[in-house]
Amino acid sequence: SRTNPFRAEVLENINLNGRGSNKETRHIELSLEGSGLTYEPGDSLGVYPENDPELVELLLKEMNWDPEEIVTLNKQGDVRPLKEALISHYEITVLTKPLLEQAAQLSGSDELRELLAPGNEGNVKAYLEGRDLLDLVRDYGPFSVSAQEFVSILRKMPARLYSIASSLSANPDEVHVTIGAVRYDAHGRERKGVCSILCAERLQPGDTLPVYVQHNQNFKLPNDPETPIIMVGPGTGVAPFRSFMQEREETGAEGKAWMFFGDQHFVTDFLYQTEWQNWIKDGVLTKMDVAFSRDTEEKV
Ligand SMILES: Cc1cc2nc3c(=O)[nH]c(=O)nc-3n(C[C@H](O)[C@H](O)[C@H](O)COP(=O)(O)OP(=O)(O)OC[C@H]3O[C@@H](n4cnc5c(N)ncnc54)[C@H](O)[C@@H]3O)c2cc1C
Repeated sequence: SRTNPFRAEVLENINLNGRGSNKETRHIELSLEGSGLTYEPGDSLGVYPENDPELVELLLKEMNWDPEEIVTLNKQGDVRPLKEALISHYEITVLTKPLLEQAAQLSGSDELRELLAPGNEGNVKAYLEGRDLLDLVRDYGPFSVSAQEFVSILRKMPARLYSIASSLSANPDEVHVTIGAVRYDAHGRERKGVCSILCAERLQPGDTLPVYVQHNQNFKLPNDPETPIIMVGPGTGVAPFRSFMQEREETGAEGKAWMFFGDQHFVTDFLYQTEWQNWIKDGVLTKMDVAFSRDTEEKV
């Protein structure tokens, strides 16, 4: 469940994009063996990620904290060394107004209080955009409070959802996801999506990820296997339809299926290309239309 996730072992983690692509999309296969978890095409997988240890290291340095200091995480009294708590328990990449307000009470910074003064809401909003906890402590530190006081104002790391890209009947005890790596620059620093970059840069076969299944009653294959379906899934939006096709292939469903896919370049970005071609050949997929926006002179 969401509150008691299963630690799923990574079986496979590959980049689906070809060399030279602007994108990086990870195809990750996880083992659900022993979990008792089940899912249907259309469901999502919740993943609890860890923060980038390099970012945590910068934060520890900036705050002059002892990474081994023991902190209490919650009302239940669970404790962890500070570094481990910052890596796996707290959200450190998102700033919110309530967080700034609590931080202002901990810091002696007049500037932070000024930022939060009534009438300044626009500036607060602009400050929150694209900044993280490291920016906050660099801009408005030092915070001469204990690590415990400081981490107590942080939120718990939220899970990320990923459309399930596999069918359980075609892959017993497995779940597959398709994760686009999020990287961008903001305020003079390279930023990395917490979960997608964990998956792209650090997650190896044999490692585990805490996961749960998020069922979705509103997104399902039709009950009648003869019902035609039209699927529109550009980029990583293709993921659930791989699940649909695997399921229809496995169950021998005979309804027509029409797929629309698009991305930047045919050569490097046609996700699961050979699988789609095989489904066309086998008749599981009736028709496929694709558009590649950067293969032409003008962006389409
Ligand atoms: C039901 C559902 C299904 C999903 N399925 C998939 C899926 O199949 N595959 C998939 O890849 N994702 C999917 N997502 C999205 C996924 O849950 C995550 O949001 C995504 O992977 C980013 O998470 P992250 O931890 O890597 O990034 P985070 O650390 O959460 O950072 C993402 C945030 O960074 C900021 N940001 C991103 N780009 C920029 C930019 N260029 N400039 C400024 N700020 C920026 C935005 O605030 C954004 O919200 C799905 C989401 C939902 C709700």
